[in-house]
Amino acid sequence: LAKSEGRNRFQFYVASVDQAIRERKHLERDLDMALAQRQFHLVYQPQVDMDTRRVLGAEALLRWHHPERGFIPPDEFIPLAELNLSIIEIGYWVLDEACRQAREWMDQGLALRMSVNLSPVQLRQNNIVDVILGILRQHDLPPSRLELEVTETSFMQNLDDAIGKLSRLRDEGIRVAVDDFGTGYSSLTYLKRLPVHHLKIDKQFIRDLLANEEDTQIANTIIDLGRSLSLDVIAEGVETEEQSVYLVNRGCVMAQGYYFSKPVDVEQFQAFIDTFETTP
Ligand code: C2E
Ligand code: MG
Ligand code: MG
Ligand code: MG
Repeated sequence: LAKSEGRNRFQFYVASVDQAIRERKHLERDLDMALAQRQFHLVYQPQVDMDTRRVLGAEALLRWHHPERGFIPPDEFIPLAELNLSIIEIGYWVLDEACRQAREWMDQGLALRMSVNLSPVQLRQNNIVDVILGILRQHDLPPSRLELEVTETSFMQNLDDAIGKLSRLRDEGIRVAVDDFGTGYSSLTYLKRLPVHHLKIDKQFIRDLLANEEDTQIANTIIDLGRSLSLDVIAEGVETEEQSVYLVNRGCVMAQGYYFSKPVDVEQFQAFIDTFETTP
């Protein structure tokens, strides 16, 4: 009995793995058509200065509306797009669309910076620097209006290559932020060598900021590190007033999170600026 039960379980397992693989294949195929079928759009999450109550800019976040499955979160499809390299084309579309929007804000007289997530796969492309500069030129967007968010994994495979490309981008005036800081393999030695301006404290440390002593210490350490290396520090995933008060008192005035606003469309973004900047 035990034996046949085991076999059944095994068959069940094989069937479900098989189905998971099939679903992944479908998703990959759909992903390849999503751009052409205009199923992507961007939402924008405000990045604020909690001290002066200014909206500093926006992080552009990609959304995929699948015709049958509805909304699929980026954490599900970005890794797939990185594996089959469709992230190169998708990432190009994101940069282009984000820069177009940044230019529109500029034309409206809004001093906003646009942050765009850059996949390690994109950064590995030989011509990525020229691609980005080309997009800026096309929209006549000053490079200082663009910030690229890169994760620590971007530096791991080929540190010198990443440093070379990011240095060129920095020399052009583009800003670079290290996203999800603290979750990867940050080494202080290479942080000193990296041409970056900005550290983003990962939201996992902010979530339990006041409940978990270790998280408090990690956040404090990143804030101090930023100060001693003259890097701006922004807290990601701020959800409560308590967290925001703690951060401001600790010297981290830049934040992004649901407490201020979820990622929203352009109209809601505009409405957010109006209320945030006029509320004392
Ligand atoms: P990320 O770059 O670290 O973006 C921040 C994520 O945290 C976003 O999730 C945002 O919606 C979420 N978030 C912001 N504030 C809060 C908060 O207060 N509480 C909680 N629980 N979450 C908050 P999202 O939009 O689902 O994106 C997930 C990840 O997908 C991003 O993490 C980024 O790694 C990736 N991603 C999104 N758009 C792009 C893109 O255009 N290109 C690339 N390469 N990656 C992207
Ligand atoms: Mg990001
Ligand atoms: Mg992040
Ligand atoms: Mg992340």
